[in-house]
Amino acid sequence: MSFQSIFGSDPDVVAAAPGRINLIGEHIDYSDGFVLPFAISSRTTVAIKKRNDQKIRLASAQRHSTIFESSIGQLHPGAEGKWERYPLGVIWALGVKDGLDIFVDGRVPLGAGLSSSAALECSVAVALNHLFDLKLTNTELAKLTQKAENDFVGMPCGIMDQSISLMGQAGHALLLDCRDLSTKLIPIDLAASDLELLIIDTQAHHSLVDGGYAERRGNCEAAAAKLGKSMRELNLAELESGKSKLTEVEYRRARHAVTEIARVLECVKALEEKDFALVGKLLNGSHQSLRDDYNVSCPELDLAADTANSNGALGARMIGGGYGGSAIALLKKEDVDSVKGKIAEAFTKAGFRNPRFFSSSPASGASVIECK
Ligand code: ADP
Ligand code: MG
Repeated sequence: MSFQSIFGSDPDVVAAAPGRINLIGEHIDYSDGFVLPFAISSRTTVAIKKRNDQKIRLASAQRHSTIFESSIGQLHPGAEGKWERYPLGVIWALGVKDGLDIFVDGRVPLGAGLSSSAALECSVAVALNHLFDLKLTNTELAKLTQKAENDFVGMPCGIMDQSISLMGQAGHALLLDCRDLSTKLIPIDLAASDLELLIIDTQAHHSLVDGGYAERRGNCEAAAAKLGKSMRELNLAELESGKSKLTEVEYRRARHAVTEIARVLECVKALEEKDFALVGKLLNGSHQSLRDDYNVSCPELDLAADTANSNGALGARMIGGGYGGSAIALLKKEDVDSVKGKIAEAFTKAGFRNPRFFSSSPASGASVIECK
């Protein structure tokens, strides 16, 4: 299927945006934290054509290319649609007032914790920015696509996924300060050290448009309000001395946020010094904290990380929102095949779905790839 075969003409613009993995810094983008994601080579491509009326027609190759119709006048949070609300939200957030035909083809696995949602939003945003000559910067686009997901789709995600999908650079991870959106590129060349980052999609899909995410975000906000400091400003000693003001759950959520922010900064140093053994330890620390303090892991993610570790990984952790999705494992190249086999075997034994494996070195961010 193509734009041509569905809508009967050629698009005005084609753009693509990548998914991401987050090396470290999980569930802290909404707590003013630092995160260290990189863009992966899997991308979502979108083709768009302006219409002469107010109609919006949308189709996705991942949704049987069925045409969904809406109109500019119907764009408001809570509007109809399922997956369509991601692109509709972006049109709404960017304030576009013309009708559009849109065809999406996404190669980022959906709901696998690799951020197909941001890839979709950012491909649409970059295409519209170009088509309507909006002159929005990547930082502005990141904020607007986040607004689309928060307010239109109803998912209270942080700013990380959209930022890295827009700003990723080949060969680099992006240290992103989620407080002011300032960035620093961190070179990362695993191949030169005979290493590979294996991505394990557990195929356990627990939807994120639910209360778990919002609840944790709320726990951190409550802890910050009670202690009078953001998770970013707080250190572990201050958290311990303020413990009596917090509920047990708020304390554990805050402990994850505070220690995870510290792990990200330590990981940047470790990468700069090519100390991959330390990077591995930090990945393990992150997983344990997400599992035990933040309670967002699940048996499939734990099994993937544990099996990788007991078969030679330098470290492993769940990535993304949690409750399913993907894990990453830092491996010596020579161990990759045997670790995949061991994880697949362990999953079969546990009665889980077959995991899928990917690997990607850091790729580039969103771009326009064709225009009239
Ligand atoms: P993730 O971002 O980790 O993949 P999310 O649950 O945040 O998981 O987003 C997945 C949702 O995004 C899908 O269920 C679907 O609604 C939408 N989506 C992403 N890519 C596409 C696509 N190519 N076609 C249709 N819908 C998509
Ligand atoms: Mg998502």
